[in-house]
Amino acid sequence: MDKLYDNLIELVGKENIEKDADMKNHTTFRAGGKAEFLVTPVDIESTCRLYKYLYDNNIKYYFIGNGSNLLVRDEGFDGVIVKFGNNFSDIETDGEEIKCGAGCYLSKVANVAKENSLKGMEFAAGIPGFIGGAIAMNAGAYGGEMKDIVKEVVVINKNGDIKNIPGAEMDFSYRHSKVLDEKYIVISVILSLEKGNKDEIIEEMDRLQKARKDKQPLEYPSAGSTFKRPEGYFAGKLIEDSGLRGYSVGDACVSEKHCGFVVNKGNASATDIINLIKHVQDKVYKDSGVVLEPEVKIL
Ligand SMILES: Cc1cc2nc3c(=O)[nH]c(=O)nc-3n(C[C@H](O)[C@H](O)[C@H](O)COP(=O)(O)OP(=O)(O)OC[C@H]3O[C@@H](n4cnc5c(N)ncnc54)[C@H](O)[C@@H]3O)c2cc1C
Repeated sequence: MDKLYDNLIELVGKENIEKDADMKNHTTFRAGGKAEFLVTPVDIESTCRLYKYLYDNNIKYYFIGNGSNLLVRDEGFDGVIVKFGNNFSDIETDGEEIKCGAGCYLSKVANVAKENSLKGMEFAAGIPGFIGGAIAMNAGAYGGEMKDIVKEVVVINKNGDIKNIPGAEMDFSYRHSKVLDEKYIVISVILSLEKGNKDEIIEEMDRLQKARKDKQPLEYPSAGSTFKRPEGYFAGKLIEDSGLRGYSVGDACVSEKHCGFVVNKGNASATDIINLIKHVQDKVYKDSGVVLEPEVKIL
């Protein structure tokens, strides 16, 4: 363990490593255990070296962005969590394209699109993730998804090599992309948007933000929709039909406002959340025969 720490220090610098990092502070669920090491790389070169080292030495690792689709078990993660945030947050516009780092908030990029009268990103303005996480998950809402606007993604592979992948080769599908299969690190992305009318873009963003506020329990910590949408059904409706609105385990609760969201009403542990997820899955399966698959990543 000390050897690992020494090697990490050499690779990324001591100031970029947190030992026993409380992952509550890095996830929107505000729950969960600790990571043995939380590393925040500062540049692409050291990230390439870090990834090659972790992979070649069989060290347990996981990449995160804003942690808005993530829950770390209370037992903790005995490995290295690598977080891509501020140091990867440059945004540049070039005509109808926006180039942005993996650590940019989607909302910030959507705002830049709006300011430049570029349409196509309105759907993403209210999703609380970073660009890297949104690419990995092919985040989407209200009929739009990242797949529609990605021209190219710059990634690092397990050998520590940088690759430019065209959007069409990213194997985007519902809440999935090649990033998850190949365990790529997303470094940056080029988005291709269209010239639009600024007032109309603002109007559409406001409409979607209002729809979110009206329907979603944004007043409580959560990871958004807890379950993927099962084909032909809505998770929230199935959960409601199973009589689970407001059902809770400890402070983990099926939202009264939107049954598709599990929320943390105070001090929920990751175990409370996981037990609630299991209970919901079992009850819905018993009542409807539909398998609910978690959308939230559980480490
Ligand atoms: C209130 C709320 C509303 C939400 N609404 C929506 C919605 O409408 N639509 C939607 O799709 N999602 C929604 N989400 C879920 C979440 O915001 C998205 O999945 C988002 O894209 C996750 O981004 P993140 O940076 O937080 O990723 P994280 O949660 O940190 O990670 C998610 C996944 O991405 C991977 N990942 C993250 N960064 C990188 C990187 N740089 N390189 C490689 N892999 C990476 C992780 O390994 C993990 O598998 C919502 C969440 C909340 C809390």
